[in-house]
Amino acid sequence: MTIAKNNRCLFGPVDSRRLGRSLGIDVAPLKTCTFNCIYCQLGRTTFQTLEREEYVPTVEVMAELAAFFKSGGLADYLTFSGSGEPTLHSKLGEMIAQAKQMSPIPVAVLTCAPCCLMHRCARSWHWPMWCCPR
Ligand code: SF4
Repeated sequence: MTIAKNNRCLFGPVDSRRLGRSLGIDVAPLKTCTFNCIYCQLGRTTFQTLEREEYVPTVEVMAELAAFFKSGGLADYLTFSGSGEPTLHSKLGEMIAQAKQMSPIPVAVLTCAPCCLMHRCARSWHWPMWCCPR
């Protein structure tokens, strides 16, 4: 199995009970989130916001994903998740669309986003994909 190495945004693939071999795509900085849950496994939220921004350059994420596939990388899911809330990335819809053009591998988004943010994101997402709570 090809492992995503020396990347800023990709990690894994990691074994997931729900998703199988899940290639993580981390698009928001630690710990940028809409909430500050006391039980969060990532610790205290250091930047609490509802504003969507291009926190990590989209071209950088796509370059890492392209390099992963070029090196023969395989996964059961491409999973937008990680150290911040992925729906806060303003280009999430574009990244999903580009990822789906690169590969037939299904896309998942692990999110705790509130409904208003989900509705705003969903308008730009390209289905089918799997969106599930963390
Ligand atoms: S919404 Fe999720 S990521 Fe954000 S603080 Fe709560 S548990 Fe952590």
